Amino acid sequence: NQTIILKQRPIGAPTLSDFDFVNDDSDLTPKEGEILLETIYISVDPYLRGRMSDAKSYVAPFEVGQPITSGIVAKVLVSKNTNFKEGDYVSGLLDWKTKQISNGKGLNKVNNQNNIPLSAYLGVVGMTGLTAYCGLTQIGKPKEGETLVVSGAAGAVGTIVGQIGKILGLRVIGIAGSDEKVEMLTSEFGYDEAINYKTTKNLSSAIASAAPNGVDIYFDNVGGDISEAVLYNINQFSRIIVCGAISVYNNTTPQKNATVQPFIVKNSALMQGFIVSNYASIFPEAIQKLATWLEQNKLTYTETIVEGFENTPQAFIDLLDGKNKGKMIVKTY
Ligand code: NDP
Repeated sequence: NQTIILKQRPIGAPTLSDFDFVNDDSDLTPKEGEILLETIYISVDPYLRGRMSDAKSYVAPFEVGQPITSGIVAKVLVSKNTNFKEGDYVSGLLDWKTKQISNGKGLNKVNNQNNIPLSAYLGVVGMTGLTAYCGLTQIGKPKEGETLVVSGAAGAVGTIVGQIGKILGLRVIGIAGSDEKVEMLTSEFGYDEAINYKTTKNLSSAIASAAPNGVDIYFDNVGGDISEAVLYNINQFSRIIVCGAISVYNNTTPQKNATVQPFIVKNSALMQGFIVSNYASIFPEAIQKLATWLEQNKLTYTETIVEGFENTPQAFIDLLDGKNKGKMIVKTY
């Protein structure tokens, strides 16, 4: 039974030497109330980078020498818990282990309901979809006809945000890091326009051309210079949804002072950060909406699937490097 542990805290961009594989010889016989799980899909997520540092945050840091934990879909191999039976599939926060014992707390059953594939419970009908839906609707408060800009647009959250924006009648502009991603956004995900931030010389004026009526809502996944360029284009009473700041997660020195605050002030803009769990009370409604849109083919999603449990650390490294389109997931075998 294999376990992936944090060997040392990464400095800057994580490397394979920050992780280690250990053979876990703990007893895999469930006691009364417990289940034995076999890992099927592992979610790799940008926020895990934060947990690898020991800086104070909204979740405790990973301990050096201990397993990494993330969203996992697993199969119940043996059950001594009346809530689960052998052959059930569950999703929840679990350790990066090929097999593990759980008491079932915090796990949701995901037995191929509504023909939704198991991996989607780590993406569009999991944390990713909830982040997109809750951030856009609860902070963005979109009104038909408004203009939405999404950064990190070709990633897991971004591909869903843009589509929800279209369903709600917005003009949607995406920012992503390659020509292939930009093409995918307009051809597969209904984005009205998309901009490659790596090749565009003047991002602020490219956004101005793509958003002739200005930007009413900005769904920010990346922070840094890209966000600065968007904020120069915001409208009065615009809403800025600060979901993530992946452009600075590997920084070892603080960012320079932002110069965008005057634009927030003069436009009476609202800028609000959030953690998806803030909106737990609307999760049932949100999942219902996302599943219905999927069924009606109003919503689609893409995944980058990496095969092999042993490739999980590399998949995480590649995610931070933009090698994914849509949700990055490891299939363990
Ligand atoms: P993604 O699938 O979007 O993967 C990360 C993407 O970030 C990469 O594909 C890459 O795409 C882009 N990226 C990497 N480095 C940079 C950079 N320097 N500048 C701009 N873009 C960069 O991940 P998720 O959809 O899972 O997460 C997106 C964001 O949402 C993250 O910031 C994450 O922390 C946040 N998040 C927040 C949650 C919350 O509760 N607030 C919950 C879930 C996610 P590219 O090729 O375009 O550069």
